[in-house]
Amino acid sequence: MKQLFFPFKRFSIFLAVLFLLGAVLFPIMAKADHTVVIVIDPGHGGKNLGAQYEGLTEKEMTMITAKAMKEELEKYEGVVVYLTHEGDENMSIKDRALFAKERDADFLFCLHYNMSEQHTLFGSEVWVPAQGEYYAKGFSFAQIQMKEFTDIGLYSRGIKTRLNDRDEDYYGILRYCTQESIPCALIEHCHLDHPNDKPFYQQGEEQLKEFGRMDATAAAKYFGLKSYELDVDYSGFPVPETKVPADIVRPDKTEPDLCRMEVTKIDEETGQATVRMEALDKDSYILYYNYSLDGGNTFTMPEEWPRPDAWNQSAREHTFTIILPFDQPVTLVAGACNGYDVWAQSSPVSIEPVPDPARLREEERLAQEKALREAQKQYQEITYEDPAGQEESNGKSNWIFPALLGVIFLCMIFVSFFMARAISSLLKGNKKR
Ligand SMILES: [Zn+2]
Repeated sequence: MKQLFFPFKRFSIFLAVLFLLGAVLFPIMAKADHTVVIVIDPGHGGKNLGAQYEGLTEKEMTMITAKAMKEELEKYEGVVVYLTHEGDENMSIKDRALFAKERDADFLFCLHYNMSEQHTLFGSEVWVPAQGEYYAKGFSFAQIQMKEFTDIGLYSRGIKTRLNDRDEDYYGILRYCTQESIPCALIEHCHLDHPNDKPFYQQGEEQLKEFGRMDATAAAKYFGLKSYELDVDYSGFPVPETKVPADIVRPDKTEPDLCRMEVTKIDEETGQATVRMEALDKDSYILYYNYSLDGGNTFTMPEEWPRPDAWNQSAREHTFTIILPFDQPVTLVAGACNGYDVWAQSSPVSIEPVPDPARLREEERLAQEKALREAQKQYQEITYEDPAGQEESNGKSNWIFPALLGVIFLCMIFVSFFMARAISSLLKGNKKR
Protein backbone atom coordinates (compact mmCIF):
# COMPACT_ATOMS: atom_id res chain seq x y z
CA MET A 1 0.00 0.00 0.00
CA LYS A 2 2.72 2.42 0.99
CA GLN A 3 4.64 1.75 -2.23
CA LEU A 4 1.55 2.44 -4.28
CA PHE A 5 0.57 5.51 -2.29
CA PHE A 6 3.92 7.27 -2.57
CA PRO A 7 4.02 7.67 -6.39
CA PHE A 8 0.39 8.80 -6.29
CA LYS A 9 1.19 11.44 -3.66
CA ARG A 10 4.11 12.68 -5.73
CA PHE A 11 1.90 12.83 -8.78
CA SER A 12 -0.79 14.81 -6.96
CA ILE A 13 1.82 17.28 -5.69
CA PHE A 14 3.10 17.62 -9.24
CA LEU A 15 -0.48 18.25 -10.43
CA ALA A 16 -1.07 20.83 -7.71
CA VAL A 17 2.14 22.69 -8.60
CA LEU A 18 1.21 22.57 -12.28
CA PHE A 19 -2.26 23.91 -11.46
CA LEU A 20 -0.84 26.73 -9.34
CA LEU A 21 1.67 27.66 -12.02
CA GLY A 22 -1.10 27.62 -14.57
CA ALA A 23 -3.33 29.79 -12.41
CA VAL A 24 -0.56 32.36 -12.06
CA LEU A 25 0.84 32.20 -15.58
CA PHE A 26 -2.34 31.80 -17.61
CA PRO A 27 -3.70 35.36 -17.16
CA ILE A 28 -0.24 36.77 -17.90
CA MET A 29 0.19 34.57 -20.94
CA ALA A 30 -3.39 35.13 -22.03
CA LYS A 31 -2.86 38.87 -21.86
CA ALA A 32 0.51 38.71 -23.52
CA ASP A 33 -0.81 36.52 -26.31
CA HIS A 34 -4.33 37.69 -26.84
CA THR A 35 -5.66 40.67 -25.01
CA VAL A 36 -4.40 44.09 -25.88
CA VAL A 37 -5.44 46.85 -23.49
CA ILE A 38 -5.81 50.20 -25.18
CA VAL A 39 -6.64 53.45 -23.43
CA ILE A 40 -7.86 56.35 -25.51
CA ASP A 41 -7.63 59.83 -24.03
CA PRO A 42 -9.87 62.46 -25.59
CA GLY A 43 -7.77 65.63 -25.24
CA HIS A 44 -9.15 68.38 -22.93
CA GLY A 45 -12.63 68.34 -21.32
CA GLY A 46 -14.65 70.28 -18.75
CA LYS A 47 -13.28 73.78 -18.26
CA ASN A 48 -10.32 72.90 -20.45
CA LEU A 49 -11.82 73.61 -23.86
CA GLY A 50 -8.66 73.21 -25.92
CA ALA A 51 -8.49 75.13 -29.18
CA GLN A 52 -11.45 77.23 -30.24
CA TYR A 53 -11.97 78.70 -33.69
CA GLU A 54 -15.00 79.76 -35.74
CA GLY A 55 -17.48 77.81 -33.61
CA LEU A 56 -15.29 74.72 -33.27
CA THR A 57 -14.21 73.54 -29.81
CA GLU A 58 -11.42 71.03 -29.57
CA LYS A 59 -12.73 69.09 -26.52
CA GLU A 60 -15.94 68.32 -28.41
CA MET A 61 -14.04 67.21 -31.51
CA THR A 62 -11.65 64.94 -29.60
CA MET A 63 -14.56 63.26 -27.77
CA ILE A 64 -16.35 62.43 -31.03
CA THR A 65 -13.13 61.05 -32.53
CA ALA A 66 -12.21 59.09 -29.37
CA LYS A 67 -15.62 57.40 -29.14
CA ALA A 68 -15.46 56.44 -32.82
CA MET A 69 -11.94 55.06 -32.31
CA LYS A 70 -13.13 52.93 -29.38
CA GLU A 71 -16.15 51.66 -31.31
CA GLU A 72 -13.98 50.72 -34.27
CA LEU A 73 -11.25 49.07 -32.18
CA GLU A 74 -13.84 46.94 -30.38
CA LYS A 75 -14.61 45.30 -33.71
CA TYR A 76 -11.20 43.59 -33.45
CA GLU A 77 -10.48 40.36 -31.60
CA GLY A 78 -8.54 40.23 -28.35
CA VAL A 79 -8.65 43.89 -27.45
CA VAL A 80 -10.05 45.77 -24.49
CA VAL A 81 -10.58 49.49 -24.99
CA TYR A 82 -11.16 52.23 -22.42
CA LEU A 83 -11.72 55.96 -22.65
CA THR A 84 -10.10 58.00 -19.86
CA HIS A 85 -13.41 59.88 -19.61
CA GLU A 86 -16.65 59.73 -21.53
CA GLY A 87 -18.40 62.86 -20.31
CA ASP A 88 -17.48 66.53 -20.45
CA GLU A 89 -15.37 66.59 -17.32
CA ASN A 90 -12.23 68.07 -15.83
CA MET A 91 -9.60 65.37 -15.55
CA SER A 92 -5.99 66.09 -14.74
CA ILE A 93 -3.33 64.91 -17.12
CA LYS A 94 -1.76 62.84 -14.35
CA ASP A 95 -5.08 61.11 -13.62
CA ARG A 96 -5.33 60.12 -17.27
CA ALA A 97 -1.94 58.44 -17.09
CA LEU A 98 -2.87 56.77 -13.77
CA PHE A 99 -6.12 55.56 -15.34
CA ALA A 100 -4.05 53.79 -18.01
CA LYS A 101 -1.69 52.40 -15.37
CA GLU A 102 -4.57 50.96 -13.31
CA ARG A 103 -5.82 49.11 -16.36
CA ASP A 104 -2.32 47.92 -17.20
CA ALA A 105 -2.66 49.51 -20.64
CA ASP A 106 -0.44 48.46 -23.52
CA PHE A 107 -0.72 51.92 -24.99
CA LEU A 108 -2.39 55.26 -24.39
CA PHE A 109 -3.43 57.25 -27.42
CA CYS A 110 -4.05 60.90 -26.65
CA LEU A 111 -6.20 62.62 -29.26
CA HIS A 112 -6.05 66.32 -30.15
CA TYR A 113 -6.82 68.89 -32.83
CA ASN A 114 -4.38 71.68 -33.39
CA MET A 115 -4.37 75.46 -33.83
CA SER A 116 -1.51 77.92 -34.34
CA GLU A 117 -1.18 81.40 -32.90
CA GLN A 118 -1.20 83.21 -36.23
CA HIS A 119 -3.50 80.65 -37.92
CA THR A 120 -0.72 80.04 -40.44
CA LEU A 121 0.30 76.39 -39.83
CA PHE A 122 -1.37 73.32 -41.25
CA GLY A 123 -0.97 69.54 -41.26
CA SER A 124 -0.84 66.58 -38.89
CA GLU A 125 1.78 65.68 -36.31
CA VAL A 126 2.43 63.01 -33.70
CA TRP A 127 4.35 63.74 -30.48
CA VAL A 128 6.20 60.88 -28.83
CA PRO A 129 8.14 60.46 -25.56
CA ALA A 130 11.80 61.45 -25.87
CA GLN A 131 13.39 58.50 -24.11
CA GLY A 132 14.22 54.81 -24.41
CA GLU A 133 11.71 52.17 -25.37
CA TYR A 134 8.86 54.70 -25.02
CA TYR A 135 10.40 56.74 -27.77
CA ALA A 136 10.89 53.63 -29.92
CA LYS A 137 7.32 52.36 -29.41
CA GLY A 138 5.82 55.80 -29.91
CA PHE A 139 7.84 56.40 -33.05
CA SER A 140 6.99 53.00 -34.56
CA PHE A 141 3.29 53.54 -33.97
CA ALA A 142 3.44 57.15 -35.15
CA GLN A 143 4.85 56.14 -38.52
CA ILE A 144 1.78 53.96 -39.12
CA GLN A 145 -0.50 56.74 -37.93
CA MET A 146 1.23 59.35 -40.08
CA LYS A 147 0.83 57.22 -43.19
CA GLU A 148 -2.90 57.06 -42.51
CA PHE A 149 -2.93 60.88 -42.48
CA THR A 150 -0.81 61.45 -45.57
CA ASP A 151 -2.73 58.78 -47.51
CA ILE A 152 -5.88 60.90 -47.28
CA GLY A 153 -3.97 64.03 -48.29
CA LEU A 154 -3.05 65.64 -44.99
CA TYR A 155 0.36 67.30 -44.80
CA SER A 156 2.83 65.70 -42.40
CA ARG A 157 4.31 68.06 -39.83
CA GLY A 158 6.30 65.11 -38.58
CA ILE A 159 6.82 62.79 -35.64
CA LYS A 160 8.58 64.72 -32.92
CA THR A 161 9.73 65.07 -29.35
CA ARG A 162 9.46 68.22 -27.27
CA LEU A 163 11.21 68.91 -23.99
CA ASN A 164 10.61 71.33 -21.14
CA ASP A 165 13.50 73.23 -19.53
CA ARG A 166 14.10 70.30 -17.14
CA ASP A 167 14.77 68.04 -20.14
CA GLU A 168 11.55 66.13 -19.53
CA ASP A 169 8.78 65.54 -22.04
CA TYR A 170 7.00 68.86 -22.51
CA TYR A 171 3.57 67.25 -22.87
CA GLY A 172 2.28 66.05 -19.50
CA ILE A 173 0.53 62.99 -20.88
CA LEU A 174 3.80 61.72 -22.41
CA ARG A 175 5.74 62.57 -19.25
CA TYR A 176 3.33 60.87 -16.82
CA CYS A 177 2.75 57.84 -19.04
CA THR A 178 6.50 57.27 -19.31
CA GLN A 179 6.77 57.59 -15.51
CA GLU A 180 4.01 54.96 -15.21
CA SER A 181 5.67 52.74 -17.86
CA ILE A 182 2.82 53.12 -20.35
CA PRO A 183 3.72 53.61 -24.02
CA CYS A 184 2.02 56.73 -25.30
CA ALA A 185 1.59 58.97 -28.34
CA LEU A 186 -0.11 62.34 -28.70
CA ILE A 187 -1.91 62.66 -32.03
CA GLU A 188 -2.61 66.15 -33.44
CA HIS A 189 -4.96 65.24 -36.26
CA CYS A 190 -4.93 68.54 -38.13
CA HIS A 191 -5.36 72.30 -37.63
CA LEU A 192 -8.89 73.49 -37.00
CA ASP A 193 -7.98 77.07 -38.02
CA HIS A 194 -6.46 76.64 -41.47
CA PRO A 195 -8.05 76.47 -44.93
CA ASN A 196 -5.70 73.66 -46.04
CA ASP A 197 -6.99 71.30 -43.33
CA LYS A 198 -10.60 72.50 -43.40
CA PRO A 199 -11.78 69.94 -46.00
CA PHE A 200 -11.00 67.21 -43.44
CA TYR A 201 -13.42 68.40 -40.74
CA GLN A 202 -15.72 71.07 -42.13
CA GLN A 203 -18.50 68.59 -42.93
CA GLY A 204 -18.80 67.91 -39.19
CA GLU A 205 -19.28 64.85 -37.03
CA GLU A 206 -18.93 62.15 -39.68
CA GLN A 207 -15.48 63.38 -40.63
CA LEU A 208 -14.40 63.51 -36.97
CA LYS A 209 -15.58 59.90 -36.62
CA GLU A 210 -13.63 59.01 -39.75
CA PHE A 211 -10.51 60.28 -37.98
CA GLY A 212 -11.35 57.95 -35.06
CA ARG A 213 -11.70 54.95 -37.38
CA MET A 214 -8.38 55.90 -38.96
CA ASP A 215 -6.72 56.03 -35.52
CA ALA A 216 -8.22 52.62 -34.72
CA THR A 217 -6.79 51.18 -37.94
CA ALA A 218 -3.35 52.52 -37.10
CA ALA A 219 -3.54 50.99 -33.60
CA ALA A 220 -4.83 47.67 -35.01
CA LYS A 221 -1.93 47.58 -37.46
CA TYR A 222 0.57 48.37 -34.70
CA PHE A 223 -0.76 45.55 -32.49
CA GLY A 224 -1.29 43.13 -35.41
CA LEU A 225 -4.98 42.74 -34.64
CA LYS A 226 -7.59 41.06 -36.78
CA SER A 227 -11.29 41.60 -37.12
CA TYR A 228 -13.83 39.09 -38.44
CA GLU A 229 -16.44 41.83 -38.48
CA LEU A 230 -14.32 44.13 -40.64
CA ASP A 231 -12.75 41.20 -42.48
CA VAL A 232 -9.22 42.49 -41.95
CA ASP A 233 -6.16 40.77 -40.59
CA TYR A 234 -3.15 42.84 -39.60
CA SER A 235 -1.39 39.96 -37.82
CA GLY A 236 1.40 40.07 -40.37
CA PHE A 237 1.53 43.84 -40.63
CA PRO A 238 5.14 45.09 -40.95
CA VAL A 239 5.46 47.46 -38.01
CA PRO A 240 8.40 49.81 -38.68
CA GLU A 241 11.25 49.06 -36.31
CA THR A 242 12.72 51.85 -34.24
CA LYS A 243 16.02 51.49 -32.44
CA VAL A 244 15.85 52.27 -28.73
CA PRO A 245 17.85 55.49 -28.41
CA ALA A 246 20.68 55.61 -25.89
CA ASP A 247 20.11 59.30 -25.13
CA ILE A 248 17.21 61.71 -25.01
CA VAL A 249 15.95 62.42 -28.52
CA ARG A 250 16.06 66.20 -28.68
CA PRO A 251 14.01 68.48 -30.89
CA ASP A 252 15.85 70.59 -33.45
CA LYS A 253 16.11 74.08 -32.01
CA THR A 254 18.49 75.53 -34.58
CA GLU A 255 17.27 77.27 -37.68
CA PRO A 256 17.73 75.75 -41.16
CA ASP A 257 21.37 75.72 -42.25
CA LEU A 258 20.68 77.05 -45.72
CA CYS A 259 18.08 79.45 -47.08
CA ARG A 260 19.00 81.04 -50.40
CA MET A 261 16.97 82.44 -53.25
CA GLU A 262 17.37 84.00 -56.69
CA VAL A 263 14.95 85.42 -59.24
CA THR A 264 15.55 83.59 -62.52
CA LYS A 265 12.89 85.16 -64.76
CA ILE A 266 10.43 88.02 -64.81
CA ASP A 267 7.50 88.11 -67.20
CA GLU A 268 7.06 91.84 -67.93
CA GLU A 269 3.54 91.30 -69.22
CA THR A 270 2.10 89.45 -66.18
CA GLY A 271 4.52 90.53 -63.45
CA GLN A 272 5.14 86.86 -62.69
CA ALA A 273 8.62 86.20 -61.33
CA THR A 274 10.19 82.76 -61.17
CA VAL A 275 12.07 82.17 -57.94
CA ARG A 276 14.54 79.37 -57.36
CA MET A 277 15.02 78.68 -53.68
CA GLU A 278 17.47 76.43 -51.88
CA ALA A 279 16.89 75.29 -48.29
CA LEU A 280 18.44 72.69 -46.06
CA ASP A 281 18.28 71.65 -42.42
CA LYS A 282 20.87 69.06 -41.47
CA ASP A 283 19.17 68.22 -38.14
CA SER A 284 15.64 67.77 -39.44
CA TYR A 285 14.09 68.77 -42.77
CA ILE A 286 12.39 71.70 -44.45
CA LEU A 287 8.65 71.82 -43.80
CA TYR A 288 7.32 75.15 -45.12
CA TYR A 289 8.49 78.17 -47.10
CA ASN A 290 7.11 81.66 -47.57
CA TYR A 291 8.27 85.01 -48.91
CA SER A 292 8.05 88.73 -48.34
CA LEU A 293 7.84 91.48 -50.97
CA ASP A 294 8.56 94.28 -48.51
CA GLY A 295 11.98 93.33 -47.24
CA GLY A 296 10.73 90.98 -44.52
CA ASN A 297 8.08 93.14 -42.81
CA THR A 298 5.18 90.95 -43.89
CA PHE A 299 5.30 87.39 -45.17
CA THR A 300 2.89 85.25 -47.15
CA MET A 301 1.18 82.23 -45.55
CA PRO A 302 3.55 79.25 -45.27
CA GLU A 303 3.30 76.73 -48.08
CA GLU A 304 4.38 73.10 -48.45
CA TRP A 305 8.04 72.52 -49.18
CA PRO A 306 8.56 69.46 -51.42
CA ARG A 307 9.48 66.23 -49.62
CA PRO A 308 9.21 63.69 -52.43
CA ASP A 309 11.01 60.76 -50.78
CA ALA A 310 9.83 60.73 -47.17
CA TRP A 311 8.18 63.09 -44.69
CA ASN A 312 11.54 63.61 -42.93
CA GLN A 313 13.60 64.15 -46.09
CA SER A 314 13.13 67.44 -47.86
CA ALA A 315 14.18 68.44 -51.37
CA ARG A 316 17.22 70.68 -51.60
CA GLU A 317 15.61 73.21 -53.90
CA HIS A 318 12.21 74.39 -55.02
CA THR A 319 11.20 76.64 -57.90
CA PHE A 320 7.99 78.62 -57.65
CA THR A 321 6.40 81.72 -59.12
CA ILE A 322 5.28 84.88 -57.40
CA ILE A 323 3.37 87.90 -58.68
CA LEU A 324 5.18 91.23 -58.42
CA PRO A 325 3.13 94.39 -57.97
CA PHE A 326 3.57 96.69 -60.99
CA ASP A 327 5.35 100.02 -60.78
CA GLN A 328 6.78 99.32 -57.34
CA PRO A 329 10.30 98.52 -56.22
CA VAL A 330 10.27 95.13 -54.46
CA THR A 331 12.66 93.73 -51.87
CA LEU A 332 12.19 89.99 -51.93
CA VAL A 333 13.04 87.85 -48.90
CA ALA A 334 12.34 84.11 -48.71
CA GLY A 335 11.75 82.11 -45.52
CA ALA A 336 12.33 78.40 -44.85
CA CYS A 337 10.96 76.56 -41.80
CA ASN A 338 12.25 73.29 -40.41
CA GLY A 339 10.22 70.41 -38.97
CA TYR A 340 10.21 72.09 -35.55
CA ASP A 341 8.80 75.43 -36.69
CA VAL A 342 12.14 77.27 -36.62
CA TRP A 343 12.47 79.74 -39.49
CA ALA A 344 15.46 81.10 -41.43
CA GLN A 345 15.43 83.98 -43.90
CA SER A 346 17.33 84.47 -47.14
CA SER A 347 19.30 87.59 -48.00
CA PRO A 348 17.08 90.26 -49.56
CA VAL A 349 17.01 90.67 -53.35
CA SER A 350 16.07 94.07 -54.80
CA ILE A 351 13.91 94.02 -57.90
CA GLU A 352 13.49 97.14 -60.08
CA PRO A 353 9.86 98.19 -60.61
CA VAL A 354 8.17 96.26 -63.40
CA PRO A 355 6.23 98.82 -65.46
CA ASP A 356 2.52 98.16 -65.58
CA PRO A 357 1.82 97.07 -69.19
CA ALA A 358 -1.76 98.33 -68.96
CA ARG A 359 -0.49 101.74 -67.89
CA LEU A 360 2.14 101.68 -70.66
CA ARG A 361 -0.50 100.81 -73.24
CA GLU A 362 -2.79 103.59 -71.99
CA GLU A 363 0.05 106.07 -72.04
CA GLU A 364 0.98 105.00 -75.56
CA ARG A 365 -2.64 105.33 -76.66
CA LEU A 366 -2.88 108.82 -75.20
CA ALA A 367 0.43 109.82 -76.82
CA GLN A 368 -0.77 108.53 -80.19
CA GLU A 369 -4.05 110.41 -79.82
CA LYS A 370 -2.19 113.59 -78.98
CA ALA A 371 0.16 113.16 -81.96
CA LEU A 372 -2.83 112.53 -84.21
CA ARG A 373 -4.56 115.69 -82.99
CA GLU A 374 -1.37 117.71 -83.59
CA ALA A 375 -1.03 116.30 -87.10
CA GLN A 376 -4.69 116.99 -87.88
CA LYS A 377 -4.32 120.56 -86.62
CA GLN A 378 -1.27 121.18 -88.82
CA TYR A 379 -3.02 119.61 -91.83
CA GLN A 380 -6.07 121.82 -91.31
CA GLU A 381 -3.88 124.94 -91.10
CA ILE A 382 -2.21 124.05 -94.39
CA THR A 383 -5.37 123.03 -96.21
CA TYR A 384 -7.55 125.90 -95.07
CA GLU A 385 -5.02 128.78 -95.28
CA ASP A 386 -6.35 130.22 -98.65
CA PRO A 387 -10.03 129.82 -98.07
CA ALA A 388 -9.45 131.34 -94.68
CA GLY A 389 -7.68 134.26 -96.35
CA GLN A 390 -10.57 134.64 -98.83
CA GLU A 391 -13.00 134.57 -96.07
CA GLU A 392 -11.01 137.30 -94.39
CA SER A 393 -10.86 139.41 -97.60
CA ASN A 394 -14.53 138.66 -98.15
CA GLY A 395 -15.08 140.08 -94.72
CA LYS A 396 -13.15 143.18 -95.70
CA SER A 397 -15.00 143.44 -99.11
CA ASN A 398 -18.22 143.56 -97.17
CA TRP A 399 -17.63 147.26 -96.55
CA ILE A 400 -15.11 148.06 -99.37
CA PHE A 401 -17.51 147.12 -102.13
CA PRO A 402 -20.40 149.37 -101.04
CA ALA A 403 -17.85 152.12 -100.31
CA LEU A 404 -16.49 151.81 -103.82
CA LEU A 405 -20.01 151.86 -105.17
CA GLY A 406 -20.67 155.01 -103.10
CA VAL A 407 -17.51 156.68 -104.41
CA ILE A 408 -18.44 155.78 -108.01
CA PHE A 409 -21.94 157.01 -107.37
CA LEU A 410 -20.61 160.30 -105.94
CA CYS A 411 -18.20 160.66 -108.89
CA MET A 412 -21.08 160.11 -111.26
CA ILE A 413 -23.09 162.81 -109.43
CA PHE A 414 -20.12 165.21 -109.67
CA VAL A 415 -19.55 164.34 -113.30
CA SER A 416 -23.31 164.78 -114.01
CA PHE A 417 -23.30 168.08 -112.11
CA PHE A 418 -20.32 169.50 -114.06
CA MET A 419 -21.65 168.16 -117.34
CA ALA A 420 -25.00 169.76 -116.61
CA ARG A 421 -23.25 173.10 -115.86
CA ALA A 422 -21.15 172.85 -119.04
CA ILE A 423 -24.21 172.14 -121.16
CA SER A 424 -26.18 175.01 -119.63
CA SER A 425 -23.26 177.49 -120.14
CA LEU A 426 -22.98 176.36 -123.75
CA LEU A 427 -26.67 176.95 -124.22
CA LYS A 428 -26.47 180.48 -122.59
CA GLY A 429 -23.51 181.35 -124.93
CA ASN A 430 -25.58 180.50 -127.97
CA LYS A 431 -28.48 182.80 -126.82
CA LYS A 432 -26.08 185.89 -126.35
CA ARG A 433 -24.75 185.58 -129.87
ZN1 LIG B 1 -5.28 69.93 -27.71
